[in-house]
Amino acid sequence: MRYLVLSDIHGNLDALDAVLAALPGSRYDQVLVLGDLVGYGPDPNGVVDRIRALAPVAAIRGNHDKVAAGLEDGESFNTVARSAVEWTVEALSPEHRAYLAGLPAGPVLVDDVLEICHGSTFDEDAYVFDEIDALRALESARRPVCLFGHTHVALIFDRSEEAIEIAAGPGDTDGVHLTFAPGHRYLINPGSVGQPRDGDPRAAAALVDTSPGTVELCRVSYDVEEAQRKTRLAGLPEMLARRLALGR
Ligand code: ZN
Repeated sequence: MRYLVLSDIHGNLDALDAVLAALPGSRYDQVLVLGDLVGYGPDPNGVVDRIRALAPVAAIRGNHDKVAAGLEDGESFNTVARSAVEWTVEALSPEHRAYLAGLPAGPVLVDDVLEICHGSTFDEDAYVFDEIDALRALESARRPVCLFGHTHVALIFDRSEEAIEIAAGPGDTDGVHLTFAPGHRYLINPGSVGQPRDGDPRAAAALVDTSPGTVELCRVSYDVEEAQRKTRLAGLPEMLARRLALGR
């Protein structure tokens, strides 16, 4: 099965549409969404529309989705994230808010090879930054390949019997193509569609093929200035517009 993997879209419809144009339906059979459809960006309704139209075989919630859907308050958020999520709560249509509220918590088992989570396998809100975090996540994983998001950094951890190493990233992951080795386990972050933070401002996504077992990390250029214009027009914090151009 071939999957398109999307994570951390964050209301950035320009970035999402560029990814969907660059990676058309002929390249995959099913879509996986790792959470944070909304928050930060100016197009939460447009993004939820697109994702629902793609009919993902598995989609889970992120921390911003939970707050935007009214399942949690934004107390743990910093000032910028909280003001953006408050804007998002107001902007979301009741139907789309209900869709976000109905997204399950990760981890979700996709098939015999894959599982997905937003943050980590044992806690949907935990961050996986380094090898120590990755080892903990893999201890709780129930499939050989686990896809995660939340950090907005495209990264591949490769766990063999002897060691864990970073097989790709952070930074310069465009076009990385890796074949899964027998007996190894993988923890893979496709990167963020709508708000990359690994120094590459291009939208990030991944293609995973479970037979024979490969992952491809992709970066897609999009109209950052248009996304910035919409962010400012919505009255969202200026920092959110600026960081799109930096990929930080
Ligand atoms: Zn996020």
